[in-house]
Amino acid sequence: MTLRIDLHTHSNESDGTDRPGELVEHAIDAGITHLALTDHDSIAGWQDALEHRGSAISLVLGAEISCQTKEALSVHMLGLLFDPENQPLRSAMDQTRSNRVTRMERIVGRLQEAGMEITIEDVYEQLREGATLGRPHLADAMVKRGIVKDRSEAFDKFLHNRSKFYIPDASPTPEDAIRLIKEAGGVAIIAHPFASLRGRIISPEYLESLVEAGLDGIEIDHRDHNEGERDALRELSRRFGLIATGGSDYHGNGKENRLAENTTDMAQFERIVARATGFAPVGE
Ligand code: AMP
Ligand code: ZN
Ligand code: FE
Ligand code: FE
Repeated sequence: MTLRIDLHTHSNESDGTDRPGELVEHAIDAGITHLALTDHDSIAGWQDALEHRGSAISLVLGAEISCQTKEALSVHMLGLLFDPENQPLRSAMDQTRSNRVTRMERIVGRLQEAGMEITIEDVYEQLREGATLGRPHLADAMVKRGIVKDRSEAFDKFLHNRSKFYIPDASPTPEDAIRLIKEAGGVAIIAHPFASLRGRIISPEYLESLVEAGLDGIEIDHRDHNEGERDALRELSRRFGLIATGGSDYHGNGKENRLAENTTDMAQFERIVARATGFAPVGE
């Protein structure tokens, strides 16, 4: 059997558009054998995903933890196979989700000052109850209002990281996120670290300091990395002995990313499973 391992996906418990169970069904249809659900700052989708698992697929518990460096650079940290009951990690995710609400009110305030007819209620209409709020929901509200035609246009015109409307989300440092994930028995993999098209990125020196802080792996095969960025990351993964992963960063209809468009090798996946003490894949 061909193995297809996708370790980076989002459901509508954050800014994806599939329900978690639907995402699992789509993954099975796409021939995925091992799927990680990695919603932003949340594991709320895990139960629904499990209930739709059937026997065809292994599920990997995870979350994409928002982080901010001391220089206010946004970093995403994939936490995989941590103990879902771990209180410090849960509290950190709860705190970030609540900070995201204040941040959204401020972004909407700036857009209103610039004359845009948009309200915080418009944004909430686009969000599933309890889901992690993010800029994509604001983008969806702009689509509904007829201001833009899709999420991409909203990001290109108003919501990208260099925009005057951009405000980072208050969240732990990458070092803290690594510590929280590992103290919960999980594996910490930095997501799309060199994705320069998204904005400013971390330096190789800073990446090395994260390795010293306990970083386990780096996501290399991701749509937002070009060939040069992948080569540089592959070299760094060899130099530091890091686990190398790939994932689709699927967001349902919210982005063009298709399930399994990037995947992780079995040997690398086995290193993750061997290192995790908090949880095991379900259905191995
Ligand atoms: P936030 O979590 O609020 O900072 O928003 C970041 C999310 O916006 C990420 O998960 C991205 O997947 C999503 N995003 C960034 N650029 C775009 C785009 N051009 N189209 C759709 N979604 C995007
Ligand atoms: Zn997202
Ligand atoms: Fe991300
Ligand atoms: Fe993501």
